[in-house]
Amino acid sequence: MCKKCSIEPVYVLQNNEQLCKQCFIKYFEKKVLKTLRTYKMIEKGDVVVAALSGGKDSMTCLYLLDNYCKKQGIQVQALAIDEGIETYREVTLKDAKKFCDYYKIPLHTLSFKKMFEFTLDSFLKEHKMNPCTACGIIRRYLINRGARELGATKVATGHNLDDEAQSLLMNQFKGNISFSAKLGPITGVLMHKQFVRRIKPLYFMLEKEVALYAVLKEFPVTFVECPNAQGAFRLQIGEILNNLEKDYPGTKQGIVYSFLEILPKLREQFQTEKGAIGTCQSCGEPAAKTYCRTCELLEKIKPVKKK
Ligand code: SF4
Ligand SMILES: [Zn+2]
Ligand SMILES: [Zn+2]
Repeated sequence: MCKKCSIEPVYVLQNNEQLCKQCFIKYFEKKVLKTLRTYKMIEKGDVVVAALSGGKDSMTCLYLLDNYCKKQGIQVQALAIDEGIETYREVTLKDAKKFCDYYKIPLHTLSFKKMFEFTLDSFLKEHKMNPCTACGIIRRYLINRGARELGATKVATGHNLDDEAQSLLMNQFKGNISFSAKLGPITGVLMHKQFVRRIKPLYFMLEKEVALYAVLKEFPVTFVECPNAQGAFRLQIGEILNNLEKDYPGTKQGIVYSFLEILPKLREQFQTEKGAIGTCQSCGEPAAKTYCRTCELLEKIKPVKKK
């Protein structure tokens, strides 16, 4: 029973406290608000763009961010990326549009097809490459570029605590520790002048909490999974973490909270002026090497692009 309201609970917190629907919504919103404030994610004069996939996380993020920003006279805009993944993206983009129409949020869409003359599906037919690697590189590129072209000073993503714990383990297992310096609830200031600072308002929320919130708020989410997700490294890591969490509650938080303690040191090591990110000589976007990862990828697939 919910202690406060004496009605059936919909959620049980880690400390065994049971929450009814209204108490859960209150708990969730309070925690997100605290994250927004603690990390000063939104400042006066910010132009805010939220990346919107049409899934539960990005919709929840946009909804709460829009409420928060409205009170400060800031109009949040949404940016969706259409990678061209049949049976999946068209469904989530339809949901995204429904959501933005309902809440009167301007929605902009950028597609792989329009920007690069190929879809992720056509690319994968021609190239043996990990779908999520290609998809992630180009999508991040387009989100940053698209947000900047909309004048954004902050771009929000719907990453939750599960996503962050997974990313941290993936970087650790692959020996990409420098990638972790780019994680955290808000990206550092010293990255690159073309980089729009990224914020993650749902940073401390568990995935299952976000899913429950989206359901309770009746957001128009069709729970579909990308056909490329099966067998993806992230999914495997997610399963390992879920199993560990079952046996050792608090595992995910443990990973993320201990990471936050070492994050300043990581950034010092990988993002000082000395190690600052350079500029891609082909497109002018931020790049760790001579060319950014998107241009490197496009170079590899040139013959396909011409088809
Ligand atoms: S599962 Fe992989 S391919 Fe599908 S949308 Fe996510 S990153 Fe892209
Ligand atoms: Zn209650
Ligand atoms: Zn480039």
